[in-house]
Amino acid sequence: MKNAGIYIHIPFCRSRCSYCDFATGMYSAPAAERYVASLAKEISSWRVDEDLDAQIENVDTIYFGGGTPSLLTPAQLKTLLDAVKTRFRVSAATEVTMEINPGTVTPETLAEFRRLGINRASFGAQTFDDGELARLGRSHNSDDTRRTFRYLRDAGFDNVSFDLIAGLPGQTVAGWQQNLDEAFSLMPEHLSFYLLEVHEGTPLWNHIKSGIQPVPDEDLAAEMYEVMLDRATDAGYEHYEISNLSLPGYESRHNTKYWTGAPYYGFGCSAHSYDGLDQRWANERDLTRYMEIVEQNDSPVVTTIKLTAEDRRAEAVFLGLRMMRGFSLNNYQREFGADLRENHEKDLSRFIEAGLIECGGDLLKLTRAGALLSNEVFAAFV
Ligand code: SF4
Repeated sequence: MKNAGIYIHIPFCRSRCSYCDFATGMYSAPAAERYVASLAKEISSWRVDEDLDAQIENVDTIYFGGGTPSLLTPAQLKTLLDAVKTRFRVSAATEVTMEINPGTVTPETLAEFRRLGINRASFGAQTFDDGELARLGRSHNSDDTRRTFRYLRDAGFDNVSFDLIAGLPGQTVAGWQQNLDEAFSLMPEHLSFYLLEVHEGTPLWNHIKSGIQPVPDEDLAAEMYEVMLDRATDAGYEHYEISNLSLPGYESRHNTKYWTGAPYYGFGCSAHSYDGLDQRWANERDLTRYMEIVEQNDSPVVTTIKLTAEDRRAEAVFLGLRMMRGFSLNNYQREFGADLRENHEKDLSRFIEAGLIECGGDLLKLTRAGALLSNEVFAAFV
C-alpha cells in the first residue's frame, strides 16, 4: 500500500476573485474558529473500514488548500496539525504544504507556520500585472507578491511554488513574457501553470458575456504555454506534469499522489478522498451545512463512488498520462490483465499520427502538443 496524503480545505478568502468557482466564502474570525473546530472533529473521528486502516502505513504529505489557508492563525493551524498527528501515522519527512496568498501574512505568522511544520508554500502569484490582478478581482497587487515572497524566504521557506494564470482577457504574449521575467527572477522551486477557465455564473463570465472584458483568445493561450515551457526549460525547470514544472527534486509530492493512484483523504467542506483502490468519496460542499453535520456527530460524506474495473482502467490511463515521464504499458498489463495497445489500437495510431502522443518501448507519453490538447486525448480512454 502506498503512503497516503491528507488534504484539508480552508474555505475562506478576503474577497472573491472574478473567475472563482471554488467552494469558498468570505473570511470572518468567528466562522473560521467554528470551522476549525469542525475540521478537527472530522479528522479525529475519521474512520474507514478496519482492513484499510490496518494497511495505511504512513501519511507523508499534508496539504492545506482553499480558499486562503494562510488566513488561519498559527493556533488554528496547530489545532489541525495536532488532530492529524493524533489520528494518522505521520512520517518524519512529511511534505506539508500551505496555499498562501500575497498580502495575507506577516513575517511573524510565517515564522510561526514554519515552526509548526509547514515546509512548502504554494503561492498564489497568478500574474505580476497590476491591471490583470485588478480585473481578476484579486485582493493583492504585484508589490504584495514581491514583498510576501521575500517574507517567505526570510522565514526559511526553501520550497515555494508559484501559481501563474495565462490566457487572461486582453493578455498579450509580450505581457506574458514580462510575467515570466518577474517569476524567473525570483526563482521559485516550483511553478503551477493554469490556462484561465471561465465558469458560467462567475462575475468574469458575466463581464465577458456583456462585453466589459474581451473573450480570452485560446490560440494566444496555447502560444503562452509554449513560451512558458521554453523559458522554464532554459531556466533549469523540468516539465513533469501537464501543468507543473519544478527544479530537480522539487516536484509536488502531494499532487503527484492524485496522478499516480495513491490514497488521499480530504477533510472539510467539498473535500474529496480516494482509498487508492476502488472507492472515491466527497464531503458536503456547503460550508454551513458541513459544520452543522459534523457538529451533530454525523459524517459529512455525501457521495461515495465504487469504481468499476473499467473506471479504474480509464483513470489509470488519463491520470497516468498527465505525468510527462509517461505511462507504463507493462504496469497497466500487470495491474489490469489487458493490453492497452491492443484495446485502443485505433485511438493510439490516430494520436501518434497527429503528434499528440509518443510510444517508446514500454512508455506511452503525451507530447507538448498533446499536453495542450490533453482533454481530447483522455476522452478516448473514458
Ligand atoms: S483566492 Fe482562490 S479560492 Fe479565493 S476567491 Fe480567489 S480564486 Fe477563489
